[in-house]
Amino acid sequence: MTAKIIDGKQVAADIRAELKAQVQELKTQGVVPGLGVILVGDDPASKSYVMAKEKACEEIGLFSDDNRLPATATQAELMDRVRKMNADPKIHGILVQLPLPKHLNETEVLLAIDPDKDVDGFHPMNVGRMVLDQKAFLPCTPHGVIQLLVRNGVKLKGAHVVIVGRSNIVGKPLANMLVQKSAMANATVTLCHTGTKDIGYFTRQADVVVAATGRPKTITVDMVKEGAVVIDVGVNRINDPSKKCGFRLVGDVDYEAVKEKASLITPVPGGVGPMTITMLLFNTVESAKRMHK
Ligand code: NAP
Repeated sequence: MTAKIIDGKQVAADIRAELKAQVQELKTQGVVPGLGVILVGDDPASKSYVMAKEKACEEIGLFSDDNRLPATATQAELMDRVRKMNADPKIHGILVQLPLPKHLNETEVLLAIDPDKDVDGFHPMNVGRMVLDQKAFLPCTPHGVIQLLVRNGVKLKGAHVVIVGRSNIVGKPLANMLVQKSAMANATVTLCHTGTKDIGYFTRQADVVVAATGRPKTITVDMVKEGAVVIDVGVNRINDPSKKCGFRLVGDVDYEAVKEKASLITPVPGGVGPMTITMLLFNTVESAKRMHK
C-alpha cells in the first residue's frame, strides 16, 4: 500500500478561507479581530515565525499589533507590554514568542496573559478547561493535528491513537483532546515517551500514530501496522550538502519507508506545520466572537 499524502497546506488554506469569511462578517458588525505579538530579541527562527504570523493575519484581515523588544529588555518591561495588551480592547489574542532570552521568566509572563486572550492555549486556566472539556482555547499544534485527521475523513471514535512524545505543547494536550467524549475525538489513546519500554509494541497496535519527539526516524516502518494513519509533528534539520543552505527539514518518521505501508501520512514540510499558525488565527477569531457576543 502506498499512502495518500495529507496536504497540510491545502487544509490550512481551506480553514483560512473560512476564517476570512468570518472576519468579513465580524467587520460588518464593527469588530476587527486583533492579535498582539510580542517578540523579544533577534533569534532568527523566532523572527521568521513572527513574520509568518503577521503575514497570515494580513491574509485573512486580522489586525496585528507587532511589539518588538530588545534582547536586553527587563522582566518589568515585558510584563508591562502584556498588561497593556490585556487592557487593550483592540487585542483579542496575545502571543509571546517563545523561547524568551534566558534572563526572563517565561512562566511569570505566560501566567500574566489574560486567559480570555490566551490564544496559544498555554495558560493553566485554559489547560484545565481543556482537560475538563469546557470551552477553552485549544493549543494550536495539537488542534491542527485533529483538524488534519477529521478533514481527511479519519474516524477517531473508537480508534486507537498512539502518540509518541509527551510535551506540554504537543503530546499531552493532544492526548487530552483525543480522549474527550466529543464528535471530533472519542479515541482510545496511548501516550509513549522515553520511559516507555517497547514503543513499537504500542505503535504496531495503532490505527493512528502521531510522532512528536524531535528525533528523526523515531518511527520506523517495522513500528507501523499496514494501513495505519501516520501524523508527523517533528521538524528536524539534518545536514544536506546538496542544498544551498546546507540542510533540509525532516520529521520524526522514516517517511520514505513508512509511506509504503501507511494509508495516510503527513509530509515534512507541508503537513502539520501550516496548521499551527492557522489554528492561532482560528483562536483569535474565536476570541473576538466571544468578546463581542
Ligand atoms: P519536546 O518538548 O522536546 O518533547 C519531546 C517529547 O518526545 C518528550 O516527551 C520526550 O520524552 C519524547 N521523546 C524524545 N525522544 C524520544 C524517543 N526516542 N522515544 C520516545 N519518546 C521520545 O518537543 P515538542 O516541543 O513536543 O516538539 C516535538 C517535535 O515537534 C519537534 O521536532 C518540534 O520542532 C516539532 N514541533 C512542530 C510544530 C509544528 O508546528 N509543526 C509545533 C511544535 C513542535 P521525555 O518526556 O521522556 O523526555
